[in-house]
Amino acid sequence: MIELIVQPVGRTRPEDAVFVGSEIAKHFPVRLSAVPSMWPLQPPASAYDWSRMQYRADEVNAWLHRNLEPLLKGGRLALGLVGADAYVPGLNFVFGLADPNLGVATVYTARLETEDHGKYLGRLLKESVHEVGHLLGLGHCSNRSCVMSFSNSLEDVDLKSAYFCDDCKLKLRSLHPSD
Ligand SMILES: [Zn+2]
Ligand SMILES: [Zn+2]
Repeated sequence: MIELIVQPVGRTRPEDAVFVGSEIAKHFPVRLSAVPSMWPLQPPASAYDWSRMQYRADEVNAWLHRNLEPLLKGGRLALGLVGADAYVPGLNFVFGLADPNLGVATVYTARLETEDHGKYLGRLLKESVHEVGHLLGLGHCSNRSCVMSFSNSLEDVDLKSAYFCDDCKLKLRSLHPSD
């Protein structure tokens, strides 16, 4: 059984973490248990780039790992839902970033937000499934409707489904045969 902590960060509402925590396991072909944290963490100012008004996603991942380290023993994974925008060097922005070595991923909600709350939650769930897919060893998928397809824009996010294609499902099952 793969265990995942869903952690609200910054101005992300705890109920959004509860939503992702209750829905995400349904999307995986391996057994996953997701537990939402009800206590938002504040991201560190040191990871904020004031000239770009964005966080450095890799630094936020490292910070989240340090914060949750005692809880991550035994291979437990963490997904941070960060109420902000972020980038990594070489990219204007990222919707999310996974570090499989740390077992930590983050999704950034600033660009996913819209007045339609249901649509926002759908986007949040897609990006969450995508990043946890990376944590579990998947790369990007060329199937445009697969949740593992790379999203360059919000249109790409809206176009893809929240589910893995058959190839990615097979890959996940072979990577995690006992889960
Ligand atoms: Zn990706
Ligand atoms: Zn796929």
